[in-house]
Amino acid sequence: MRYISTRDTSMQYSASQAIAQGLAKDGGLLTPYYIPKLPGKALEDIKSMAYQQRAVYIMKMFLEEFTVKELTDYANAAYGPDKFDSPAVAPVHTLDGNTHCLELWHGPTCAFKDMALQMLPHLLSASLVKTEEDKTACILVATSGDTGKGALEGFKDVPRTKILVFYPKDGVSQVQELQMVTQEGGNVGVAAVVGNFDDAQTGVKRLFSDERLRRELARRGYFFSSANSINWGRVLPQIVYYISAYCDLLRDEKIAPGQSVNICVPTGNFGNILAAFYAREMGLPIDQLICASNRNNVLTDFLSSGVYDRNRTFYNTMSPSMDILISSNLERLLYSLTGDPAEVKHYMARLSDVGRYQVSDRVKDKLQKRFKGYCCDDRETQRMIRETYGRHGYLIDTHTAVAFSALEQYRRETGDDTPAIVASTASPFKFCSSVLEALGETGIASGLDALDQLTAKTGQPAPAPLAGLRDKQVRFTQVVEKGRMVDAVLSLLE
Ligand SMILES: *Cc1c(COP(=O)(O)O)cnc(C)c1O
Repeated sequence: MRYISTRDTSMQYSASQAIAQGLAKDGGLLTPYYIPKLPGKALEDIKSMAYQQRAVYIMKMFLEEFTVKELTDYANAAYGPDKFDSPAVAPVHTLDGNTHCLELWHGPTCAFKDMALQMLPHLLSASLVKTEEDKTACILVATSGDTGKGALEGFKDVPRTKILVFYPKDGVSQVQELQMVTQEGGNVGVAAVVGNFDDAQTGVKRLFSDERLRRELARRGYFFSSANSINWGRVLPQIVYYISAYCDLLRDEKIAPGQSVNICVPTGNFGNILAAFYAREMGLPIDQLICASNRNNVLTDFLSSGVYDRNRTFYNTMSPSMDILISSNLERLLYSLTGDPAEVKHYMARLSDVGRYQVSDRVKDKLQKRFKGYCCDDRETQRMIRETYGRHGYLIDTHTAVAFSALEQYRRETGDDTPAIVASTASPFKFCSSVLEALGETGIASGLDALDQLTAKTGQPAPAPLAGLRDKQVRFTQVVEKGRMVDAVLSLLE
């Protein structure tokens, strides 16, 4: 399988080159030239496998250079019982006959980013060997909260890697910040950026294209790579859990072979829902993809009008991992829908020049056939948390609540009661204060004490990785202006 840039298909890359490099040199995203189809009996075969085997089966279709033995070793290390507190890894919790919740937060940082970031370091390390790269990979991450911790945890003490994380100073929850600034490991660095997530992400993109910095790094024996969801090694492991969830429903006879499902995903950078789209391209019977946004509803508007316009007010919401105005992975979708790198390049140039682009009617029609976009504000998010808990005794976090709201809106509008799989992207304990408030609590404790309060309220224990933060020491306190991130890189690499 060859990989190309979404902006230029003349250059081809192997999977290991794509993963080692992260981003194409022309700024495009490295993407498979075509999406392979699941063989006829695949779902029947996968149905009886453990999650780790499912991951090997599906990833192998995209990674010809990697042996089954290699991939099996990575899957066992990434999704083992020392990392995930559920043997199913990504279990499906059924709420009612046609509503199923895919829990993606049983890993070490309690958010869905673990699903990919526990796998990526293995793929990257091996890719460095396969591409005969002799420098150390310096992984730069801009995070809206969960990616940063997920990447730190995944890359901690992985040989020949160094990881630097930038998070927006006032754009993450207290628990998220504590998770990052207490990170252990000899190859990690963390800095806060004054600004919002887009400032941090734009700053990281600028670091990537800073030739002087690149040369200085090379002199010190490093090269830049990325663990953001622009790296193919991030998207691929996410395809696995949609196929896995479908197979769970088949296995448990909650759906019939061949039956269509809808998938509803709380969306930020468009990585998670893109993986669902790819699962559909592979032949998984998915009908509608429901794209859920919070008050930063740039995607909702895009899906209804065909105009992507980032020139709008940025809001800090209680679902901070979705507070994003530039959804990077949309570029891969545009490539899939157009098949035309020149057209993608044109849209991306408009986005970078004027912050806005309008897709052709042909692309808009294709988009609207497959995707439905809905959004909700914080009040609705909290109402959804309260109702889901009241009606099903099931506790959800703020991001997952946005998805449940979108699903409710979709069903009300269309009357479509196709079984739906809702991606649940974080443990409710990661966003304790908002969840407590939603449940009607007053006098909400600050910091980690809120974990105990949520346990007292619901009788559910906090996940061990969060409860354990209490005993950790703060290691990182650096705060940088968004224009001075270069200095932070150089000091953290000393
Ligand atoms: C990252 C994240 C999202 C958004 O996922 P994308 O792949 O960026 O669309 C949603 N919820 C949570 C909890 C996240 O951490």
